Amino acid sequence: MSKRLIFATGNAGKMREIREILGDLGYEILSMKEAGIDVEIEENGKTFEENALIKARAVAACCDDLVLADDSGLEVDAMDKAPGVYSARFLGYDTPYEEKNQYIMDQVEGKTRTARYVCAIAYVEEDGARHVFTGVVEGEIADHARGEKGFGYDPIFYYPPYGATLAEVSEEKKNAISHRGRALAQLIAYMKEAER
Ligand code: IMP
Repeated sequence: MSKRLIFATGNAGKMREIREILGDLGYEILSMKEAGIDVEIEENGKTFEENALIKARAVAACCDDLVLADDSGLEVDAMDKAPGVYSARFLGYDTPYEEKNQYIMDQVEGKTRTARYVCAIAYVEEDGARHVFTGVVEGEIADHARGEKGFGYDPIFYYPPYGATLAEVSEEKKNAISHRGRALAQLIAYMKEAER
């Protein structure tokens, strides 16, 4: 029987992505809900790595399975690396991203536009061993929002090697260079190595 791997998220989009990317490793991949786990998790860490570990450990405490969790966000240099770990909550959870994005573009006006996306993925094994893999993609805040693809801050995240924002490129092109894609690549390399 294949081993169960629980992904600590309630986000259906992330579940789909994880199933696609980790699909051929031979694990039975379940969301918290599918695994019958319902825990209130307070993301009070100061870094992406801390938050990913907080989530993974909270879920690992409820089961004997392998557990994965992630935390990600945008760091804008001209804003002292805000919104950072507060990216989802920035200016309010329910504030439309058009507004959040306009606010950030106003903040960087006349300043350095450098920014990055960061993603930390925490992995807790059955014996409690913990690992964190971090992926980063460097870019710039665009001077106006462009593109309809992706989500969140993608319309203002300009990636110079593509000459486009991440809302203008295909999902495949985004995943090839994204913070999440890069963190997952490290996780996959580790899991494949551990299988041997
Ligand atoms: P969390 O990882 O689910 O806590 O969400 C982090 C937040 O960071 C998201 O709600 C977005 O605001 C932002 N974010 C993280 N990754 C991306 C991305 O790939 N594109 C756009 N926004 C992102």
